[in-house]
Amino acid sequence: MKVSRVFLFAALLLAAAPARAQDADTILLNGKIVTLEAAGTAEALAIADGKIVAAGRNDDIARRAGAATRRIDLAGRTVIPGLIDSHMHAIRAALFYATEVNWIGARTIPEAMARIRDKASHARPGEWIIVAGGWTPPQFAEKRRPTQAELAAAAPDNPVYIQLFYSAALLNPAGFAALNITKDADVPPNGKLERDARGALTGWIAGDNPTISGLFDRLPLPTFAQSVEGTRQFFRELNRLGLTGVSDPGGFNLTAPSYGPLFRVWQDKQLTVRVIYSLFAQRRGKELEDIENLTQMLPMGFGDDMLRFNGIGENVAWGMYNNDNPSEAQKQQYYEIARWAASRGMTLTQHWNNNKSVHHLLDVFERVNKEIPIAKLRWSIAHLNDATGENLARMKALGVGWLMQNAMYFQGEAFLRERGNEILRLTPPIRTALNMGLVVGGGTDAHRVMSYNPFVSLQWMLDGKTVGGLATRDADETPSREEALRIYTQGSAWFTHDERRRGTLGPGRLADLAVLSADYLTMPVGEIGALTSVLTMVGGRIVYAGGPYSGLEEAR
Ligand SMILES: [Zn+2]
Repeated sequence: MKVSRVFLFAALLLAAAPARAQDADTILLNGKIVTLEAAGTAEALAIADGKIVAAGRNDDIARRAGAATRRIDLAGRTVIPGLIDSHMHAIRAALFYATEVNWIGARTIPEAMARIRDKASHARPGEWIIVAGGWTPPQFAEKRRPTQAELAAAAPDNPVYIQLFYSAALLNPAGFAALNITKDADVPPNGKLERDARGALTGWIAGDNPTISGLFDRLPLPTFAQSVEGTRQFFRELNRLGLTGVSDPGGFNLTAPSYGPLFRVWQDKQLTVRVIYSLFAQRRGKELEDIENLTQMLPMGFGDDMLRFNGIGENVAWGMYNNDNPSEAQKQQYYEIARWAASRGMTLTQHWNNNKSVHHLLDVFERVNKEIPIAKLRWSIAHLNDATGENLARMKALGVGWLMQNAMYFQGEAFLRERGNEILRLTPPIRTALNMGLVVGGGTDAHRVMSYNPFVSLQWMLDGKTVGGLATRDADETPSREEALRIYTQGSAWFTHDERRRGTLGPGRLADLAVLSADYLTMPVGEIGALTSVLTMVGGRIVYAGGPYSGLEEAR
């Protein structure tokens, strides 16, 4: 009798225990929470141990609060899953963020020059002032590039380097002097000093990818401490724009030591964006040897929820990088590396610009796939803005996804001149890809060729307008607001094998979210690019808080 009473008491305790254990760390109430799950829109969310434990009605969620639970009143605001840029050169952007100037959002040349003048007024003698891309002439009311005279007036004493995509760079006279450039032969391969009609140097250097990367390599690097600080600042800036994750595809000027500042911030537990990175080809002709060496202690998936290794790309082999006519030998080399990656269960992502030549790449993927099925490995092709349905279908059949960015936001005017209106109206074919069930990831390709702002990219997905206001893509190739958001969350998460862990806001998902400054679902489309987050969480931790929530940001 006594035993059974004790037993009954214990059983009651056990029954009661789960209710206590489920006390939320944080609850968010009175919101419009776009879960992107079957639940649809919820009023409230409960978070415990970095994960979402429930989404639902206010009263149900309020019951999960205990005495120690933090309660956040959303006051009707819209909450979305944290945005994930599936193709951003974030690690490189971060290295330079504390020392570079950017022209993101500058609407006139005087406004751009004011940022140069401001930097110059604080610079030490001889210190370089650098704008490493991220702008385009159509964004300026003047619809042209700045001149060297304008630059020299803004910064007469310090050397200045202005990069335009990977096609040109402008230096002021102090910059030419600092790099000892007086003639074409002083510029890296394929570079040319531009001259005006009278034969005088304009200050602009024209070139291609190797020219511009080569020039950039001659500029002094920030110190380790500046790069650590830049990394912290840049990721907080991304948090301010609702980003909680990036996939980083390596890039030019990025070698193994370049990852040091990122690793330091991660070790210090100060990383506020989940970074999933891949390995970019290093030495030409030694690509496989370099990848084999570097990955001996860096197996696929190595890392944790904040920082993780995700295979190779976006340059796998130099011979197939920006090459529309690869030779048989170049394709064979690529095949050997791709096959090696498949045999090790590695994800592979490949930069490819033009639909007309992507069959070379797809042929190699199909050849590998016959020997080792690649669908489970989540390979991808990045860019390919003018993709046709035929090539998207070949990707779909292989289980290869598409990393799609808003390149046309900056380059629509140039694309129109080169390719004509008929193709521009289908570029990129977002709706065609979604209709065939292809996985599409959202992103920007920031920061040298594009701004990193995800809301600008989302707005462009929906209205197809360039920074200069040119309407491009047809409504037929335009996603709905919810579809665009899915591309930037769930879609992006797929490429890092994370779509069951993040990208939506349901029980069991990582608590990565952004509370928005206005309602993405109902506001005028033309204003979406100006959205910000007022509160961003990564794993339930408040990594950015502004406006009504400032003060809630957790110390780093
Ligand atoms: Zn690329």
